[in-house]
Amino acid sequence: MPPPFHSVFRAKNAGACVGKRIAESYGPMSEAMTRGQRMERIVSLCKRRGFIFQSSEIYGGLNGCWDYGPLGTELKRNLKDYWWRRMTRERDDVVGMDGSILMNRQVWRASGHEETFSDPMVDCRVCKGRFRADQLPEKDGQKQCPSCGSRDMTEPRAFNLMFKTYVGATEDESAVTYLRPETAQAIFVQFKNVLEVSRKKLPFGIAQVGKAFRNEINPRNFTFRSREFEQMELEYFCKPEQGPGLLDYWLEERLKFYEAIGIPREKLHVHEIAAADRAFYSKGTFDIEFDFPFGVQELEGVAYRTDYDLAQHQKFSGKPMDYFDEETKQRFVPHVIEPSAGVDRTVLALICNAYDEETVTDDKGKAETRTVLRFHPRMAPIKCGVFPLLKNNELLVAKAREITALLKPHMLVFYDETGAIGRRYRRQDEAGTPFGVTVDFDTLGERGPELHNTVTLRHRDSMKQERVPISELPGRLLPEVL
Ligand SMILES: [Zn+2]
Repeated sequence: MPPPFHSVFRAKNAGACVGKRIAESYGPMSEAMTRGQRMERIVSLCKRRGFIFQSSEIYGGLNGCWDYGPLGTELKRNLKDYWWRRMTRERDDVVGMDGSILMNRQVWRASGHEETFSDPMVDCRVCKGRFRADQLPEKDGQKQCPSCGSRDMTEPRAFNLMFKTYVGATEDESAVTYLRPETAQAIFVQFKNVLEVSRKKLPFGIAQVGKAFRNEINPRNFTFRSREFEQMELEYFCKPEQGPGLLDYWLEERLKFYEAIGIPREKLHVHEIAAADRAFYSKGTFDIEFDFPFGVQELEGVAYRTDYDLAQHQKFSGKPMDYFDEETKQRFVPHVIEPSAGVDRTVLALICNAYDEETVTDDKGKAETRTVLRFHPRMAPIKCGVFPLLKNNELLVAKAREITALLKPHMLVFYDETGAIGRRYRRQDEAGTPFGVTVDFDTLGERGPELHNTVTLRHRDSMKQERVPISELPGRLLPEVL
């Protein structure tokens, strides 16, 4: 299983440990349910509640492509926004950019992608299936076709993962380019422009979030390995002697990021890529991996790429990619540390991490299963549900609408007046909404002035309820969801 980024530049067995270290860290729920069952339920919830749909579903889908529904889109946006805020806006040393997906073909020659961005592919001579050579199951020491069990397989050959396309009206060699397989190259080729306009001094970084495309031979594990996906990449440029220290710094920063979005450290694994398995130019690479139900898999790579990328572009373009240090009066090509994270796989990690089922007893003593997504409030798609106790009472409805309007400028609020209040809570539990506000007759002051203009604030995880003045709601909720 190759790491998702720069897989080409790594030795064949770089991902060999992936999937082995499956820690049983899912708590009591996992005892009654296998990891496979757990994943099935997550996929089913994603579709049922509108997190993730198959792309072009009514036509039978398109393998390796996915669409995000209303809740999934909010979740993904919360993740990207928070990454952007933390990686750029809250720092003085990082600026952003937004590069195009189509680039001059020379970029992919210089980066090495055109030559070597490939996976080994084999064909089954019996069923004509096509598979990644490094993912074939083995029986009695012999590789086997995963679909028909045949051992009659072709020799592995390189399959380039870039989507080829043509720019302009002529479909000949001169018009060839590719959909970008990573966002990073746009940053490298604009290094000098950004350096000049931002007037930054080393060390400083350029961040980018955007789509990338890889024609994976076997997309799998739901959205984990997709053909179209999004990346959040930072290229952090520095002096050569700062490289090793900054690699450690960024690894720690990125681990803290995952904790801040609600993924605890015990579900993360840091896998240091051995020197023999790293790209020849890399002076250190860490994979940050998450314990998915389908195995431990990479979310992000933090790599010290030395001056390789800028030097390659300097060589191929003939344009200087160097930096002049005012203090030492030295000119050199900067080194770079690259924390490169996958948006879609982090969204999937957030959902897998949040998914829970528990048995609860209702007020009539009846036991039922509560499905709940325990998202960190910062990531939750909807922050607060607002419920009038009865939908046919104008005063309750008006008050609930008023609260919705009060919170709306600050967070995504969902107004729901249909069904029993317990059902409405359950629906929001499944969507991962951390707070629920219920407007009842006490709110209207019908049982005395002391509860007038107060509401019930319900907490998703504990299901505890408290009485809170309406005027205090923004102050209570905002610090939790920001
Ligand atoms: Zn076969």
